[in-house]
Amino acid sequence: MRKPKNVPKNTEGATIEDAKKALDNTQKVHVLAGLPEYLKDPANYQKIRKAIYETIATKHSHSDILEWGACVNCQIKLKEHGELIRRLGFTCPEQYRAWLKVHAKIEERVKLR
Ligand SMILES: [Zn+2]
Repeated sequence: MRKPKNVPKNTEGATIEDAKKALDNTQKVHVLAGLPEYLKDPANYQKIRKAIYETIATKHSHSDILEWGACVNCQIKLKEHGELIRRLGFTCPEQYRAWLKVHAKIEERVKLR
């Protein structure tokens, strides 16, 4: 019987969960690849996060997403938010979200120490 190709030999005992986890890690690394040094520094995390958050902070509260989408003020804020994220050196919103997660985890670990 022929063995299926492109199955690595050292996956014996590995579960689908292991594979998913490995893939997940690869994607995380990939999305954060090329991140500027100052964004990697945990000391800058809160400062940057706050600056980005302030671009989107508004006194408006729209319960309806359509209403929010039609609100000029909120759409200008959303545009500023995206522009600041790019200006800070993030390549895409996904990278920004991954960055938030990674730093939140780092902070958690620091607090537990
Ligand atoms: Zn609004």
